[in-house]
Parts: sequence; C-alpha cells; structure tokens
Amino acid sequence: MAKEYYKILGVSKDASQEEIKKAYKKLAKKYHPDLNKSKDASEKFKEINEAAAVLGDAEKRKQYDQFGTTGDQQGFAGFNFRDFAGFNSFNFDDLFESLFSGFGFARPGGRRKTAQRGADLITEVAVDLKEVLNGTERELEVTKLDVCPDCEGTGGETQTCSKCNGEGILKQAKRTPFGIFATTSPCNECQGSGEEITKKCKNCKGKGVIKVKKDIEIKIPAGVLDGLRLRVPGAGERLPGGAGDLYVIIRVKPDNNFERKGNDLFIKIMIPFSTACLGDKIEVPLVEGTDKLKIPAATQGGTVFTLDNKGLPDLRTGTRGDLFVHVDIEVPKKLSKKQKQALKEFD
Ligand SMILES: [Zn+2]
Ligand SMILES: [Zn+2]
Repeated sequence: MAKEYYKILGVSKDASQEEIKKAYKKLAKKYHPDLNKSKDASEKFKEINEAAAVLGDAEKRKQYDQFGTTGDQQGFAGFNFRDFAGFNSFNFDDLFESLFSGFGFARPGGRRKTAQRGADLITEVAVDLKEVLNGTERELEVTKLDVCPDCEGTGGETQTCSKCNGEGILKQAKRTPFGIFATTSPCNECQGSGEEITKKCKNCKGKGVIKVKKDIEIKIPAGVLDGLRLRVPGAGERLPGGAGDLYVIIRVKPDNNFERKGNDLFIKIMIPFSTACLGDKIEVPLVEGTDKLKIPAATQGGTVFTLDNKGLPDLRTGTRGDLFVHVDIEVPKKLSKKQKQALKEFD
C-alpha cells in the first residue's frame, strides 16, 4: 500500500516544489526528535523525510503520481535515518537537500551552506562486576555547546542576506584562455547561511550557540567488556550544522575476589587441611551472593572446580559463563599438642 505522501506533508497534489519544501521544513522542525520529545515524533519525522524525498524529487514525484509508488520503497524500509549525516541538522534546507544526495553521505559541491557540525564527545564510566552482571544505568552530566534555544541557532532576528540574496553563495564569472567559467564561493557576509542578523539574540550574544550542562542518561548493558565504546547518537556538541555523538568508554573496575577472562570468572579459595582430607561443603562467593560447593574427601591442592553459569553474561546472548574455583590447602601455622600427636599418628 503506497503511503499518502501529499497528506503526510499536508500539501495539495499540484503543490509547487517551493510549497513542498516549505511544508517539509515546517513539519521537520516540529517533529525533529531532538526538539520534539513525544513518543511518536521520530516515526513521524521519518515519515516526513520519506515523503519529502519522493515529492521533492521531480522524477520520483512523477513516478509516484503515476503509479502510486517510486519502486524504491525498499530503500526506505531499511534506511536508518539516525545514521545519515545531517540527521541532527537544524538547517532543514541542508536536510532537505541531503535527501537527494545519497542521504547526505556526499553533499554535492557548491551547495549552499556547510554549517559546522558539533564535535563528538568522549567520556569514561567505571563499573563493577555486579553492574556487569546485571547491567546498569548512569546519569552523566555533560558540559557542551548547544544550539541557543532562544534563537534556534540563528543568532537573532534575521533577514535574507542582501549580498547573496539568500543563496549563501557568490557566483563569479572568471575569464580564462579556455573561456568564461562560473565559480562559486560561500558568501562572506552571511558565512553561507543566506541570512544576516539584524538584531542580536541576547541569550547567545548573536553566536547562535551557548554552553549548557546536560544530564544524559545512558543504559549500560549486562556483560560489558572493559574498553567497550557505547555511542549515544546526537548527544555530543550541537551546532547549527548538526550534533556530534557522545562516546562512553566503559571501564570495568578490577575486583578483589574475581579475575575475569571473557565471560568466565576465576577465584582462589583456601580450604583447611582437614576439609581437604575429609571433604566438606564450603561457601564460595559469587558476584551476586554465595553458593555452596562440595569438596570431596582427598581433594588435592590446586584442584579446580567449576560452578556452571555463575560467570558473567555474554553481551549479545546473555548466556552466563562459568565460575572456576581454584582450591588451595591452608597449612595450619599453630598446632596444639593434641593435633600434633594426631598428625604423627597419621604419618
Ligand atoms: Zn540565541
Ligand atoms: Zn550572504
């Protein structure tokens, strides 16, 4: 069933390209997941992008009008819009245009405005084995640059740049021995934005960006390995050209009891000489508590027992590794006369 792209964008079937672009910009701004925190915003945003990608392209639109499909819906089904460059862009002109350039992987040269994207940020989080076992959540306070909420990154009240007529680029004809060539360069008056500031925003002093402290909640999955890098898309610095990502490097703290190898855990336990000889049940510490382990009579020092599924969960499958208990025998330092006598008899 073909989607009703005209309905999605709220335009008529004979809408002009300019009207489609306008409708797209308005809706994209309304439903951008970074600006709209409601549950279905990202789905709606995706839908809007899909509709605009078809109706904004003359060829695809023609096909869609004729057949009700563009034949490349497949591409959209598997298209993870969070991953395309420009996703976090607040310049919806760029976003609109990037829809037609391989989803923003390669922006055609000479296009207007190459607003800077915010930098990626990196931070570290230390977790203990209990957190590795169960998974955990953390709230990180991140200080970063963000688009000014008062002026939405514009820097203040703006009007169309008079030098470039809002194009963002300046065209120049260059005379060469081979003929006249048209060259383009970003407009130096408006830095390629196509708009000039007439009244500076007070909040950001016309910069369009401000420094903010943000609490970012992250989920750390069970089974994380030391050095694992979690990516939080769009949680890095945000500039009018888009937001960078936040990378969280997981550090697993060394444990006093356990040594970890992959999903398996290793522990060393000392047992009394008598337990080794006669056998007994001993208590073994686990990450989540304790467990009983049966030591058979005549256990030798260095014997390794396995407690199945008492290791750590696998990051992907969740299946737990094993706990290997290495048993050593404690030789008593002080013996009573009676004990000495008993040992002599034992010999
Ligand atoms: Zn501002
Ligand atoms: Zn300009």
